[in-house]
Amino acid sequence: MICSLTCFSQKPDSVKTESWKKIYRTSATKINDLVHTKLDVSFDFSKSWMYGKAWITLHPHFYATDSLNLDAKEMEINEVSIIKAGKHIPLKYSYDSHNLLIDLDKSYKGGENYTVFIDYIAKPDDIKEKGSLAISGRKGLYFINPLGKDNSKPTQIWTQGETQSSSVWFPTIDKPNQRTTDEISMTVSDKYQTLSNGVLVNRKKHTDGTRTDTWKMNLPHAPYLMMMAVGEFSIIKDSYKGKEVSYYVEKEYAPVARKIFGNTPEMIDYFSRVTGVEYPWPEYAQIVVRDYISGAMENTTATLHSASAQQDARQLIDGNNWEYVIAHELFHQWFGDYVTMESWSNVTLNESFADFSETLWNEYKYGRDAGDEHNFQGMQAYLQRDGQNKDLVRFYYKDEMDLYDVVSYQKGGRILNMLRNQVGDSAFFKSLNLYLTTKKFQSAEAHDLRLAFEEVTGQDLNWFWNQWYYGSGHPKLDISYDYNSENKTAKVFIKQTQTGKAFRLPIAVDVYQGGKKNRYKVWIDQTADTLSFPATSKPDLINVDGDKILLCEKTDHKTLDNYIFQYKNAGLYVDRREAITYAAGQKNAKALDLMKTALNDMYQGLRIYSIQKLNIRNDSVKNVVEPMIFDLSKNDPKPLVRATAIEALGKYKKDTYREFFLKSINDSSYSIAGNALLALGSIDTVSALNQAKILSSQNVKGALSVAINKTLYDYSSESDFDSLAARFDNFPSGNGKFTLLQSFANYLKRVKNIDNFKKGIDLIVNSRDETPEQYRQYVLPFINERILNGLAIAKQSSGMKEQADYVYSKLPSKSKAPEIPKVP
Ligand SMILES: [Zn+2]
Repeated sequence: MICSLTCFSQKPDSVKTESWKKIYRTSATKINDLVHTKLDVSFDFSKSWMYGKAWITLHPHFYATDSLNLDAKEMEINEVSIIKAGKHIPLKYSYDSHNLLIDLDKSYKGGENYTVFIDYIAKPDDIKEKGSLAISGRKGLYFINPLGKDNSKPTQIWTQGETQSSSVWFPTIDKPNQRTTDEISMTVSDKYQTLSNGVLVNRKKHTDGTRTDTWKMNLPHAPYLMMMAVGEFSIIKDSYKGKEVSYYVEKEYAPVARKIFGNTPEMIDYFSRVTGVEYPWPEYAQIVVRDYISGAMENTTATLHSASAQQDARQLIDGNNWEYVIAHELFHQWFGDYVTMESWSNVTLNESFADFSETLWNEYKYGRDAGDEHNFQGMQAYLQRDGQNKDLVRFYYKDEMDLYDVVSYQKGGRILNMLRNQVGDSAFFKSLNLYLTTKKFQSAEAHDLRLAFEEVTGQDLNWFWNQWYYGSGHPKLDISYDYNSENKTAKVFIKQTQTGKAFRLPIAVDVYQGGKKNRYKVWIDQTADTLSFPATSKPDLINVDGDKILLCEKTDHKTLDNYIFQYKNAGLYVDRREAITYAAGQKNAKALDLMKTALNDMYQGLRIYSIQKLNIRNDSVKNVVEPMIFDLSKNDPKPLVRATAIEALGKYKKDTYREFFLKSINDSSYSIAGNALLALGSIDTVSALNQAKILSSQNVKGALSVAINKTLYDYSSESDFDSLAARFDNFPSGNGKFTLLQSFANYLKRVKNIDNFKKGIDLIVNSRDETPEQYRQYVLPFINERILNGLAIAKQSSGMKEQADYVYSKLPSKSKAPEIPKVP
């Protein structure tokens, strides 16, 4: 599972009760084990129902039992029987809309198979529980545009099992420590394609225009990994060692499907090689669906992606911004699907590996800098958000969906990267291999991973697991230096300033002196450690954490000269980045020289960073770097660098660049074209508006679409109201519309005509009320409090009471006009 972009902006808890903090979350007790699940399903699009027949084979796990408790959410149960010699023998059962308690016909012994049959109707719209930001729904089964009334999207059906929503569409034991083989027969209109786990083993056309597709999964996997999808798709086929690798996309994206997904076979090969476990499943499909409730999901052999994966040819010129998701979900086929967390508490066993695979893939495919950049960004994502007090393995939580956060993902991924550095690549990957082969087709907990590492390395690693897996927080380091020329000793003082106890950390310290680098491997474990190193003269640089892998925050008291040396000689991505960050804040010639060097850094990510960090409000910087920025904006081989340089050039507000901006607006890269349009706006709003109007009739996406909308809504006058209102109204729903909503609201602040203003508010209110149910709890407060209430206050403060009152009338009753403070 990977979250959509917004998923980590945690909302404060509205529920005050903290009783969950006392509930230890155990792994589910296994009374019965799933063995095989056979489903026969068809769909009622008019009701968003699914008619299902399920044959579920189970056996008691160890102890004999005469009852079975299945998860089955909001279903209509028509029949429950046991199959004996092909005959249905009715069983007694009770059902409370969540649990189906069945009295078996006798007591079954441990390991003794039996098969129950259930005839049911799944009614996903009856599910009332809300999702989380990470997975914004629990309906399990989703009918998209089922009546075909919405022209902006195709009709589709898809499922989302994680965490415990598969039991909305079939009765099962909906726990991650269960596994089942399965066979699913879907009867659909012949115009649709279907996808499920495993292999399509049969297609049967019927005379009524329908068809039954049967998918079979012969290897056991957890119920939350089962999936179905139905819709009209183009299927593009690749292969890996004779296994089919396919991409299901909307027809429009068939020509670019390989540009988006085409690295998949190489990824499968790479991940098979690093894990030493050949891709374990019979084939691998990826499908893109509409209105998905998260980012993507690693259903076994059938990963499901949200529509953000579908980028057009011009978007892809700027780079495939979905490739890390493709890597993430693919690595889950090993870590998650082949070996599965035994409980949600251990979700990091799935997610830290998937997150870490993004770094691995970047490093392998695009070089060390690209891998290090991804690792660095993951660390920042964790440090910048609230994850301080959360253990990686968390036995106490309010809702299992809360575990899908920056701790389980990004912090977990960084911990794996540290572990890899600590034990070395060869031991690291050998340990992963041992873990995967020992626990294959089973569930695992974090200790299983520790045992594999201990077996391979011969080391006791309890301390590492206790500190990082069963503990919280991270070290905050204060690092300072001293050199004593009499006894020829360099000292490093490392203080751990975090609250709580000191972390035990193995650290590589590189001492650069006399043209040589000496590496010292040391351990620190105190709140204040002093390290001493021999040095015949003052070192040019002492580089603590020489491989830049520590998960920490740090205050490093290096000098500018240290950083200049570090940029040139230590040389890793983070070494160079730290030097750029420091130099950008300094006002002297040496620092500026470093910035000039960094503008030509060999890695595009650091060229972009350097441009962004330039302090061009400072005239001495501004004039010196201008020709360099102009050169980058024209000649850099990477579109995103050129785009960033154009953005910086816009800040010069010089008419001499007009022709260049105008030309760049037609660049094939959306980022370049979009930034050129915004830069033109900084010198000539009329010309920018004209360009935006011309472009607005074209079908463009990405950064250019955002720039067009920003230009249109920022610079248009009130007389353009009708066209701008229509543009907003007709814009397809989704993330793009949400961005547009904010531009439109800014525009409405300038609209004085009362009728137009009301019309504009009505359009915003319509889009609010049409928000799909699964997003409402997040989108509605934003639209009400930030957008609408913000507009009301703006109108009120400029004396337009009628406008303000109209907005308030559209808000929930608890919102009301704020008191205007009286001047005493
Ligand atoms: Zn994931």
